[in-house]
Amino acid sequence: MMNFDNTELAFRSKSSIDLTRAYLLFKTIGSNAIVKIGSFAATTAVKLHLPVMWAAGPTIYSQFVGGESIEKCHKAVRHLEKNQVGAILDYSVEGKENIADIKKALAETLHSIKNAGQDANIPFAVFKPTAFTTHDVLEKASTAKVSMTEAEKAEAENFRSRVDTLCKAAYDANIPILIDAEDTFFQHFIDEVVLDMMVKYNKESAIVFNTYQMYRWDRLALLQKDYDRAVKENFFLGAKFVRGAYMEKERARAAEKGYKDPIQPDKESTDKDYNAALKFCIDHIDRISIFNGTHNEYSSAYLAELMEEKGLAKDDKRIFFSQL
Ligand SMILES: Cc1cc2nc3c(=O)[nH]c(=O)nc-3n(C[C@H](O)[C@H](O)[C@H](O)COP(=O)(O)OP(=O)(O)OC[C@H]3O[C@@H](n4cnc5c(N)ncnc54)[C@H](O)[C@@H]3O)c2cc1C
Repeated sequence: MMNFDNTELAFRSKSSIDLTRAYLLFKTIGSNAIVKIGSFAATTAVKLHLPVMWAAGPTIYSQFVGGESIEKCHKAVRHLEKNQVGAILDYSVEGKENIADIKKALAETLHSIKNAGQDANIPFAVFKPTAFTTHDVLEKASTAKVSMTEAEKAEAENFRSRVDTLCKAAYDANIPILIDAEDTFFQHFIDEVVLDMMVKYNKESAIVFNTYQMYRWDRLALLQKDYDRAVKENFFLGAKFVRGAYMEKERARAAEKGYKDPIQPDKESTDKDYNAALKFCIDHIDRISIFNGTHNEYSSAYLAELMEEKGLAKDDKRIFFSQL
């Protein structure tokens, strides 16, 4: 199996100062106690309008944020390009509850899709669906047997049409678009809308990608079901895989409200389903495009091995490896 021991190659885009800073940062945020104190201090400082950028700017911010605007990300995109790494610009906004913010998020995301379409080193556009309607509407539309008012039903349709606007812009710019996965209690309606977009825009190739969080025990079955629909209705399935980001929150909510935990019983089960999903997609690569969103060394090497076994080129446009 492929190994990643050649650190000279892996980190050649980083200076020694970058690496030392990243090492110290990850060591610090690896401590629960420091994260708790730091989060409290930062939130308090922001509330009191104290300047925090002098501390966050050169540390956390420069590690995780490419820039405050598309234009300010340009330098980072070009630096990655020199090292043959593509870039995805994520407009970091979610949970918008009023129309002005939603409109702003829509305009920014359309701008990012257009920009991606014009930049050969940006292979995907992306958005977080929670930026495009209220939490309340997403949750109600995702929950069986919950009645919605006429206004709520109309807002759910507004969400659908905003997602359609973004997917159409991606289709017109010929740039694939990733739709992030969110908390389970929002996800059912998102899945429904995104699959409808695939039926509409993925006839020639995978433009619209849904995200499968493999820490959920029901996602492998959903992948199979979505694939069956893709075959039946003759479209390409765009599948972004992640393990999932909200485990503690999901478990706590399920325990509090008394429903079955939507998360796998342990890490091994998550890993097993994650790798099984990759295998399933490679076995059906004529119909599925894969976006492998993980830092997991085994899953990355495993996907590379599956590609080699199948005789696929390393730069096969249906398969992407991506890290944050
Ligand atoms: C490019 C990219 C895009 C992403 N987009 C999204 C997104 O749209 N939505 C989203 O939710 N997340 C997203 N993530 C985050 C992702 O879901 C993971 O939280 C993160 O990448 C860590 O998982 P890993 O596979 O990289 O590493 P690993 O260290 O192999 O896995 C850690 C993950 O395993 C799972 N896990 C850990 N312990 C247990 C346990 N006891 N039982 C069950 N499962 C367990 C959790 O999901 C945890 O995050 C994205 C990540 C990347 C790299």
